[in-house]
Amino acid sequence: MTKRALISVSDKTGVVEFATQLQQRGWELLSTGGTFAAISAAGIPVQQVSDVTGFPEMMDGRVKTLHPAVHGGILARRGTAHMDELSAQNFGTIDLVCVNLYPFRETVARGAPDGDVIENIDIGGPAMIRSAAKNHEGVLVLVDPADYAVALQQEVSPAERRRLAAKAYRHTSEYDAAITAYLEGTSDELPTKLPEHLTLNLSKTAEVRYGENPHQPGAIYRWGQAHGPVIDAQVVAGKPMSFNNYADADAAWNLCQELAAQEEGAVCVAVKHANPCGVAVAEDVRAAWERARDADTLSVFGGVVAVSRAVDLNAAQAMRGTFLEVLIAPQVTPDAVEWFAEKKPDLRVLIAGPQTNLSVLDVRPLVGGFAVQERDTRPWSDLCPEVVTTRQPSEQEWADLRFAWGVVKGARSNAIALVKNGVTVGLGAGAVSRIWAAERAMTNAGDKAQGAVLASEAFFPFDDVVRLAASQGVRAILQPGGAKRDPEVIAACNELGLSMVFTGSRHFKH
Ligand code: 5GP
Repeated sequence: MTKRALISVSDKTGVVEFATQLQQRGWELLSTGGTFAAISAAGIPVQQVSDVTGFPEMMDGRVKTLHPAVHGGILARRGTAHMDELSAQNFGTIDLVCVNLYPFRETVARGAPDGDVIENIDIGGPAMIRSAAKNHEGVLVLVDPADYAVALQQEVSPAERRRLAAKAYRHTSEYDAAITAYLEGTSDELPTKLPEHLTLNLSKTAEVRYGENPHQPGAIYRWGQAHGPVIDAQVVAGKPMSFNNYADADAAWNLCQELAAQEEGAVCVAVKHANPCGVAVAEDVRAAWERARDADTLSVFGGVVAVSRAVDLNAAQAMRGTFLEVLIAPQVTPDAVEWFAEKKPDLRVLIAGPQTNLSVLDVRPLVGGFAVQERDTRPWSDLCPEVVTTRQPSEQEWADLRFAWGVVKGARSNAIALVKNGVTVGLGAGAVSRIWAAERAMTNAGDKAQGAVLASEAFFPFDDVVRLAASQGVRAILQPGGAKRDPEVIAACNELGLSMVFTGSRHFKH
């Protein structure tokens, strides 16, 4: 029996080619007004849905396909008495439903008046999608041009039909969620305007074995249609990504990108438990990695590493002796991938996905909801750093202060970074008091604190950090300033011969 496809699409991309292919494979085609016009204009035989239903499209298209001839043709269970009921009405089956919906989100995003938005709530489209998905054993449902090719195969397996059905329901549920959010006005309450394709709808994008610990179920979700460097990274070698791997890779990559934007060389960031443990800039990736590793050879064990440039075989081989969980880079050369797969089979090697500006939101979980804010992406170039001491930093110290500021901004509060010649020599992060963060960094650094610079993500309530830093040979300090005791802190610097720079910009990361 000839098979019939119903095609009704708002986004007409690729639809004429698809209709041609179907027609060449012997399918009969059925379409609504606009889609009919597009397909028949290309000279492909196609019938109007209104000819099948015997009713014209009504009410500006509000009622086009809502008719038993359409829904009966889709929903009849093949090989059952449903088929007799169908023929008793002189209806035929519809074996493929290809629909994409009125552009609701796009209409909201362009700030259209309420009337236009309401008119862009698709009714018949979701109904057909849901009917076809329900009866997926007998009907193919296509909501994404990327799946058109599947329908052109000779046989579509039951598993594939089920996948398409699940995708169809995800599509209509996201569509309804967008409508709900619009009517409730909830999306407007976000502190920042969401880009068009970043909505509060969520979709699961990766399965992980468990959450942070084995007794916690977990999964990875994306915002609406958003893309991102880690969420869309290609795992080219190694084990599957875990929940913690995703979180740490994201922290490492974001910090690495921000530093790469302000520094001239290649940047390498090693992260442990979302905090940087070794960060360096150098002339190439290999050197940057070696410097970051040597900054703290103990903590880098089991770390997650991000680099700002392509990893070649030479750089890969330099990672030989270190146990790492994840490496993420903009590119990894094929010989390096091969080397990793053979020599470090457990290491997850990631090629970062598209670098978008979509991750504008920073979300912290609350039981029952979340706190949301814009991400802290303030660049160094936005600051007006001011030297508040008699001593001026040297040129090298200025470069190191800038680098230390970039690092400390990517660490959990309270954070202190010690930097010398483009590499962290000591890091104290996630401490509950500032002096402890500083002590941690000094212990890390040991002798290497001599001649280093220090950056703090928030101001100094007392002069204790200054005195500790001076005793270890630190030469210059950068901090936002703005504390009650600033005059005492500055006086301590002048007394001890240190430079101090105020940025006026705090970077808490709790
Ligand atoms: P066309 O451009 O072919 O005239 O319209 C295609 C669009 O109409 C598709 O987005 C489809 O989801 C939608 N559609 C199909 N049937 C109905 C219906 O009965 N009511 C409404 N409101 N939309 C429909």
